[in-house]
Amino acid sequence: MNYNDDALVQTSAILQEDILDEQQLDQLWSAALGEIEIQVSRPNFVTWFKNSHFVNKKGNTAYVGLPNNFAKEWIENKYSKVVLGALRTLEQSIMKVEFSVAGAKGAPAKMTRTAPRPEERQASFPEFKIDPETGLNPRYSFNSFVVGKSNELAYAAASAIVEEIGKKYNPLFLYGGVGLGKTHLVQAMGNEITARYGGKVRVKYTPAEKFTNDVIWAIKNKRMETIKEKYRLIDVLILDDIQFIAGKHATEEEFFHTFNALHESNKQIIISSDRPPKFMPDLAERLRSRFEGGMIVDISYPDYELRYAVLKTKAQERGLNLTEEVFGQLANKIQRTLRELEGILNKIQFHQRVKHLEITPAVIDEILAEILQEPTRSINPNVVIRAVADSFEISVVDLIGSSRKRELVGPRQIAMFLLRDMLDLSYPNIGDRIGKRDHTTALYAFEKIAEEINRNQVLNQKILTIRELISKE
Ligand code: ADP
Ligand code: MG
Repeated sequence: MNYNDDALVQTSAILQEDILDEQQLDQLWSAALGEIEIQVSRPNFVTWFKNSHFVNKKGNTAYVGLPNNFAKEWIENKYSKVVLGALRTLEQSIMKVEFSVAGAKGAPAKMTRTAPRPEERQASFPEFKIDPETGLNPRYSFNSFVVGKSNELAYAAASAIVEEIGKKYNPLFLYGGVGLGKTHLVQAMGNEITARYGGKVRVKYTPAEKFTNDVIWAIKNKRMETIKEKYRLIDVLILDDIQFIAGKHATEEEFFHTFNALHESNKQIIISSDRPPKFMPDLAERLRSRFEGGMIVDISYPDYELRYAVLKTKAQERGLNLTEEVFGQLANKIQRTLRELEGILNKIQFHQRVKHLEITPAVIDEILAEILQEPTRSINPNVVIRAVADSFEISVVDLIGSSRKRELVGPRQIAMFLLRDMLDLSYPNIGDRIGKRDHTTALYAFEKIAEEINRNQVLNQKILTIRELISKE
């Protein structure tokens, strides 16, 4: 297979001479952002990567421009590994990333091109056209939401609510694993309501993390009144990823009051979560019973047809031409979440536009092989074990120990499953690490979990959450 070598030689030649034009830099950066988006939570992604852009590449160093010092420090400390990883999967000649405040003093002195104004760059990346008033992003619409078996009930509930705000299904509690379309659907509701009722209905979309930050800020600055005003003057409140507030008492308390105030005056409340209320052990009982008084619907894992349809829609949105065979191949291989489909389309687009490769099934195989091996590169068994322990709130010592307590059996089996599935460790090795068991125990655990995932939605989601924890390491 020589397409790759040719392309690499070609690309590194281009990159060494630094003659990537602006459009190519844009493509590279938006492909990298697609990759980064998969790895960091959406609120963080939007907060920190907004207005970022690719300034230049010199030798093996990539220069990334950020709007201010605050973002620069934050990304340097928290996300430099993620950024480098994302760039390297696209362009292996990049070994180092440097961040600068674009246009300010610290910018690389020898920049051969001036950094474009942030607004220009934003245009190529629709993620950031968020309305500051409503928090809504116009890219999410009912139109672009593809309906299949796994989300049809959620879609039906969402459509019904938009027809009669506050009267039907209040609150709506929508749950499902990561990357299955919750944010898309709740945002689409907000956009549809705004389009229909214009300024008459005030919509507010808030990630729960942001709500929490608001409450913390208000407590610190003794400005609780501000919060009350801000959230209670709303007609439709959309709180995304409510699992973030579970167990945070002050935030729950404030949300409870906001919830009641809105609910009593028939304002619509829309909530999303990565799990149903009954599986949120930290959630205050009174909130749980409020949620259970409304409509609870789930979005589950997409089947082949839905994956195929979403791929086609997204490719079309990007003007990306792929053959039916390639769509089929992708829908077959990428099974977990719809968000991953987006990441892979970014990559394909980059290969096609910048590297000028014809996207054949063989090229897709190469891209998939790269993607599918990525997560295992930086993780090790201890990371997996710690993530499982954390997510069940048990200690690592208990998890890998040999106590026969019943509540440890499940977590141990999951740890064994993940060690095999993600790291391909041998069964004797796994047995040795977890509970000092022999290889048959590990083998049994792997097969049991692998089989049960297909039937047990809750288990499946739990494992996806753990995988996400691991991939953030
Ligand atoms: P979640 O909030 O559940 O983690 P998102 O709403 O962020 O997931 O969805 C992840 C990606 O998949 C988004 O880019 C979204 O547009 C896309 N997506 C999810 N479901 C659908 C769907 N039914 N049709 C089209 N795109 C979808
Ligand atoms: Mg979401």
